[in-house]
Amino acid sequence: MPKYSVIFSIIVLVLFAFSCRGPVLNSASSSKVSTDSAFRDFETRFLDAYWQHYPSSAVFIGYGKYYERLVIPDSVAYQDNSRFSTVWLDSLKTQPYSELSDNLKISYRIIENQLQSDKWYNDTLKQQEWNPASFNITGESYYIYTQPYAPLDQRLRILSQHITNTDRYYKAALRTITVPTREHTELGIKQNEGGLDVFGFALTDSIAHSGLSAEEKDSLRKKVVGTVIAIKNYVHALKNMLADKKTKFRSFRLGKELYDQKFHYDLVTSYSPEELFRKSEKDKIFYQTEMYRIAQDLWPIYTRNKERPKDSLALIQFVIDQISLHHAQPSTVIDTLKEQVHSLQKFVIDKNLFNYDSSFPLVVRIMPAFQSGVSLANADFVPPYQKSGATYFNVDDLTRLPGTKAESTLREYNNYSIQFLTIHEAMPGHCLQGIYSNTHTPDIIKAVFQNGTMIEGWAVYAETMMLENGWGNHSPEMQLIHDKWKLRELGNAIIDYRIHCLNESKENIESFLKNEAFQTPSQVEEKWHRATVSQVQLCSYYAGMSEIMALREDYKNEMGTRYSLKDFHERFLSYGSAPIKYIREMMVH
Ligand code: ZN
Ligand code: ZN
Repeated sequence: MPKYSVIFSIIVLVLFAFSCRGPVLNSASSSKVSTDSAFRDFETRFLDAYWQHYPSSAVFIGYGKYYERLVIPDSVAYQDNSRFSTVWLDSLKTQPYSELSDNLKISYRIIENQLQSDKWYNDTLKQQEWNPASFNITGESYYIYTQPYAPLDQRLRILSQHITNTDRYYKAALRTITVPTREHTELGIKQNEGGLDVFGFALTDSIAHSGLSAEEKDSLRKKVVGTVIAIKNYVHALKNMLADKKTKFRSFRLGKELYDQKFHYDLVTSYSPEELFRKSEKDKIFYQTEMYRIAQDLWPIYTRNKERPKDSLALIQFVIDQISLHHAQPSTVIDTLKEQVHSLQKFVIDKNLFNYDSSFPLVVRIMPAFQSGVSLANADFVPPYQKSGATYFNVDDLTRLPGTKAESTLREYNNYSIQFLTIHEAMPGHCLQGIYSNTHTPDIIKAVFQNGTMIEGWAVYAETMMLENGWGNHSPEMQLIHDKWKLRELGNAIIDYRIHCLNESKENIESFLKNEAFQTPSQVEEKWHRATVSQVQLCSYYAGMSEIMALREDYKNEMGTRYSLKDFHERFLSYGSAPIKYIREMMVH
């Protein structure tokens, strides 16, 4: 999954948007230009107010302002949040939606959804009452002193202000948490403990070598010590909650009503939860059937014609296991992925799939240590407001893992599977999409309030689209492993719904993942855990891919002989990381 969105230069993009309007400005379009520029002024005012109101979010988006402020999570703060949404929704309504250009209409609706969603999270979902992991100042503190928005001395002074009241912050958090879930309490412990490193040697060393005065250094050091104590006290209180028989825990399962609402606000998709669930169930049968056909063909090659198991799923699993023995070595993974990125870039140019700009910086590198151990690879972007930096395709250093762990990761990402990993994370998945978002998006709203369904949907769509265009030379192994990836993605949607809406048991879910989606024991365990601490997000992959596929079909029909795949991709990506549902309205009529 991608870590951050990408930035772009507002000046260049304003010019881009205007040049799209064509050379002749008649009176209608010139009034549109002035309506648009008035709306852009509104956006700038709204965003500044938004980051001032939510300073922690401002840090993660790289805004570079208001970082000194830490909001104490008490009842006053939650009332303020609700009022903030209401005031800005009213203000948004004064903007002339119907007179805006297409791209700004999308921005209008993204702002509207964001404010409604914030209000719903704050007033109805009330995560603050049940999710102790929602209180954690370590990540933002890290970015406050490492982002390049100001010289180091200034950043340290800002950090010093930011962590002045961390004790009050965590005490207020404990009063706010009234009905925790066990799972989120465990997560809160793990993530806050894990974040203690942020206040470790790297920071104290920076303080020592900074240009701060002796008093400033002394004051900051004391605050760092106080913050570490505040975090440890918080973790200690959470551990007591878990141990105390009198604690009233609620279930981690969201339940149908809240699930439907969260699905609506988070995904912004044209599917309902039931439609997506039914489609995933139906497509599951399709992929399993196709896999059975391929696995039967491959059986003699991989088994020297052993007797075939009666059960079709067992037969598929056996062939997958044999294929998985063909994999890279811990020391060769990084070179393998560099080579693949290069071949994939060449492929998208040769097959005319994108207006590919080979000058943008895409760097394949070993994953920074603090991200290590979660997944083999990820895509890493600079935050939207940050003005410099490259897009990274990070790869975990498997030579540092125990041999058996490295071996099981490499079997999972065998010679075939690892190609889909590179397609998904880098080319033309997350990295390419992120770079389009960087250079083509006409409006920052889509970068700061980016839609996860579009982003994950794109990466998942890319896997299938590359195969359709001949990547892998139509090898049956590639097709089989592709189908396994699809089962993982649609399986995410299936288990999320079954867990949160149908209240299904852990045993049922694990059996599904193992037997019907061919996942390894460690994948099954990780997926169950992820589904207990997140809700709805697991649906974004398959919802997004399905929407893109449907949109492509409709666009093709509408364009007729003028259709080309490259044109579809260019237009689709030009709207930035916006909900597909809104992009659709701009692309087909
Ligand atoms: Zn992803
Ligand atoms: Zn091996």
